[in-house]
Amino acid sequence: MSLNAESTAFRSALEVIRAVEPRVADAIEAELADQRESLKLIASENYASPATLLAMGNWFSDKYAEGTVGRRFYAGCQNVDTVEALAAEHARELFGAAHAYVQPHSGIDANLVAFWAILADRIESPALKKAQVRQVNDLTEADWFALRRELGNQRMLGMSLDAGGHLTHGFRPNISGKMFDQRSYGTDPATGLIDYDKVAEAAREFQPLILVAGYSAYPRKVNFRIMREIADSVGATFMVDMAHFAGLVAGKVFTGDFDPVPHAHIVTTTTHKSLRGPRGGMVLCGPELADQVDRGCPMVLGGPLPHVMAAKAVALAEARRPDFPDYAQRIVGNAQALAEGLLRRGAKLVTGGTDNHLVLIDVSGYGLTGRQAEQALLDSGIVTNRNAVPQDPNGAWYTSGIRIGTPALTTRGLGTAEMDATAELIHTVLSQTNPGGSKAKYVLDPALADKVSKQASELLTKFPLYPAVDLG
Ligand SMILES: *Cc1c(COP(=O)(O)O)cnc(C)c1O
Repeated sequence: MSLNAESTAFRSALEVIRAVEPRVADAIEAELADQRESLKLIASENYASPATLLAMGNWFSDKYAEGTVGRRFYAGCQNVDTVEALAAEHARELFGAAHAYVQPHSGIDANLVAFWAILADRIESPALKKAQVRQVNDLTEADWFALRRELGNQRMLGMSLDAGGHLTHGFRPNISGKMFDQRSYGTDPATGLIDYDKVAEAAREFQPLILVAGYSAYPRKVNFRIMREIADSVGATFMVDMAHFAGLVAGKVFTGDFDPVPHAHIVTTTTHKSLRGPRGGMVLCGPELADQVDRGCPMVLGGPLPHVMAAKAVALAEARRPDFPDYAQRIVGNAQALAEGLLRRGAKLVTGGTDNHLVLIDVSGYGLTGRQAEQALLDSGIVTNRNAVPQDPNGAWYTSGIRIGTPALTTRGLGTAEMDATAELIHTVLSQTNPGGSKAKYVLDPALADKVSKQASELLTKFPLYPAVDLG
């Protein structure tokens, strides 16, 4: 029997690697086995296609390609130009954006590019005219000194961490928390939803330079039209970080007021979460910010990764296929089935449900911390991550929440019936786990953990991961 192309490709690759450092080949094989066996509910992870994975493993990795398509600082970039231009074209078409910059190496890098582009754009307009220089790079040290003082208005208004915002939206452990004076908007304590009047009030008081929307752990839609109106009312630049939900935008689940692209001045994203591409980032914007965004490398980024841009082009081409909207709809359908299954069994959910790809369980309802719940679930073969809930009494380390998401399991083909079964497994583990004397310790009968592990694997057997890949 002859092997299919995918099996041949991965088997051959492993053979070549094994000849040099067998332990790396073994680890790659072991990783596939682990991923195949685990019920992965990490909301930020997915499974990229074999074509996307294979596009990364080649000699494009050897190229230096600083600059932009057709304007490189190195010779011999014609093939890099081809894949970068393709990735950008697919991104523009998929999201309806005027400009796409596909060089960022990650979501955090994409945000750095955006921050710099916004700052540079602001600096260059009136201040540079005053200094009679052409661009930021021409500023003297004295100009910079004066500008920094002016940029006392370097203020960012973003979603608070415990309401689901991201570290890069102006929080201390990230450079954005040092570059910007930050203030956050949270969610309404009664409903768990963003209160747009409160956001508008905070914007009026704080007069931010940048209003950021986007999240890692908010289980609801955001109305970007209203957010843009708020930004406009105070002259702020409106930035949306759609790292988590880019796949739902690409798949036309989020349209109209809920599609960030027509409303934001600038949109950043990862490419590896719900969008299901290679690990990486991307920036979308209108013509006004395009030149500044394109200076991302070398302004804040290291040299572009041409092999990853090739994989972005492949994944974005996949996301433009007619079946991608169906995938995106199923992600949300599955998240809602999971939420309903949990609610029916008595779980407490932040906002009482979901309209995107993620569900946030408030595990204080089970008398547990997020840390205890995360470990108990992991012992039972269910991979999740702990996450703060709004006004979390246990802080950002122990937390009181468990974040679960459906992009990965939906890629495997699991549907709403399996989500109900998953809800049953999660509820069984959490209701049978007892706190164990510290915020990290817990008591769970190993026989129960074992039984749930087996049930979780059984759930997966009908939905093989990378079904066409047989490593032999
Ligand atoms: C995941 C995430 C990021 C960071 O992405 P990396 O690729 O890990 O750098 C940035 N912003 C948001 C909202 C995210 O969810």
